[in-house]
Amino acid sequence: MDNNSIKNFFGHYIDGKEFIDNGEKIDIINPSTGQLLGILSSASKKTVNRTIESSEKAFSLWKNVSIAKRTNILFNYKIILEKNIDKLSKLISDDLGKTKNDAIGEIRRGIENVEYACGIANSIKGEHNKNVSTSIDTWSQFEPLGIVLGITPFNFPAMVPLWMFPIAIAAGNVFILKPSEKDPIATQFLAELFSEAGLPDGVLNVLNGGKETVTDLLNDKRIKAVSFVGSTPVAKHIFTTASSNGMRCQALGGAKNHALILPDANIEQTVNQLLGAAYGSSGQRCMALSVAITVGEIHKPLINALSSEIKKFKVASGDSDSFGPVISNEHKQNIIKMIDSAEKDGAKIIIDGRKLLVKPSRLKNGFFLGPTLIDNINTDMESYKNEIFGPVLQIINVDNVKEGLKIIDKNQFGNGCCIFTNNGELARKFTDEVNIGMVGINIPLPVPSSFHSFGGWKDSFFGDLSIYGPDGLRFYTQRKTITQKWPSSKIDEIKFSMPTNN
Ligand code: NAD
Repeated sequence: MDNNSIKNFFGHYIDGKEFIDNGEKIDIINPSTGQLLGILSSASKKTVNRTIESSEKAFSLWKNVSIAKRTNILFNYKIILEKNIDKLSKLISDDLGKTKNDAIGEIRRGIENVEYACGIANSIKGEHNKNVSTSIDTWSQFEPLGIVLGITPFNFPAMVPLWMFPIAIAAGNVFILKPSEKDPIATQFLAELFSEAGLPDGVLNVLNGGKETVTDLLNDKRIKAVSFVGSTPVAKHIFTTASSNGMRCQALGGAKNHALILPDANIEQTVNQLLGAAYGSSGQRCMALSVAITVGEIHKPLINALSSEIKKFKVASGDSDSFGPVISNEHKQNIIKMIDSAEKDGAKIIIDGRKLLVKPSRLKNGFFLGPTLIDNINTDMESYKNEIFGPVLQIINVDNVKEGLKIIDKNQFGNGCCIFTNNGELARKFTDEVNIGMVGINIPLPVPSSFHSFGGWKDSFFGDLSIYGPDGLRFYTQRKTITQKWPSSKIDEIKFSMPTNN
């Protein structure tokens, strides 16, 4: 399509208004049709500076706004988000290709974090000790950091930003959000809706762009903290750069999530759980289940049951489809290369999604791949070692639980894993011994609710405090501890004394 015929230019959201500058232009493609949805203008250095100035000004006011007023705005925001679920889900479907139900699911998980932020008066309460020493009281209060930056990936354009900015803003910070340049439209709409809920201008600014925009932001020391979610190499880079610039940083990276399936697991229930966890969102989830380790004789019956269900999948982007396209043609080709390499390395392709033909002609240029099931995988294969991030489930068979645990233990990533069994003792041993951040027992996607916190281990996470929930709040606040004594007005004698604990 000719770029000049496109009316849809997308810029930034600064001070409560859309702003388009003359930075580098990036095409936004609808992955279901391969057609241009719009053109994104990246932030120039001047726009980055202007945004930080806007955030600084907003912080000087926002940090003093009462908790009651902040909470009212958050409650309004929750109601407005609920009212706009259909519109938001349509933007996500167009921009990322998620089916409607999948997009609604991500928005609902995102709204949970606004609900958590609504309870800020309770969760941010300080700690107090009266008479900690004679006539001395000590208390801690949790104060905002200032300007916080969030950098988000393409696969959850609503949920991942909502992991970050509601709780950061509730705690009195101001936020600059840099969404993925691949699908920025829904994210920008989230910011517009927050303004509609009464959020003052500049408290949430959205800056668009890619690597250069991130570099400009990371080099500005007016930014105090960075939350990053994306691939592992970029997470490492962001963590190192932000930390060396004195910024607090939490950087969540990629994953390879395993399910350990014991011989006593209920096959129907396990298959039911595996299907959505492996193939939902076209496998483009950091918690996607990409490796199933079967223990002993359950291997064959499980593969048979999985195969017959997978064959019933419908792939396209309609409301009743199982899953939609992947994000880009480049990503599709990378996934195909991984399946090719598994085949070349001797794995057995049981269901092959490489040559899927999607029927409606309007989708003929979309980036679709069919569900793929691969058996006989081993841990030396490239397809095992790398995050594929597509609709591909790989199977490894082992003789016992110990062997299965060893595989998970040695894997580079540590985001999520799960066990399917009816044996409580073994499940307990698994949760105790496995070196992974989020663990499920008969639950394939153990994504913690907003009242807990989310974070992997090993190369899936760089930093100290996990994202959202109680850890998220600690990440976005700094402790100030005050010790006070009000001396009685009469002093008998003036003398030199050392501090004592009495
Ligand atoms: P990505 O790392 O390519 O991009 C993430 C963000 O970083 C984007 O905003 C992008 O503009 C920016 N970016 C990319 N390269 C950069 C660079 N060199 N310097 C500075 N900024 C850069 O990730 P993606 O492809 O958008 O998302 C998929 C990845 O995210 C997968 O690896 C997935 O596992 C991971 N992910 C992890 C979690 C988690 O919670 N651990 C959640 C969702 C996605």
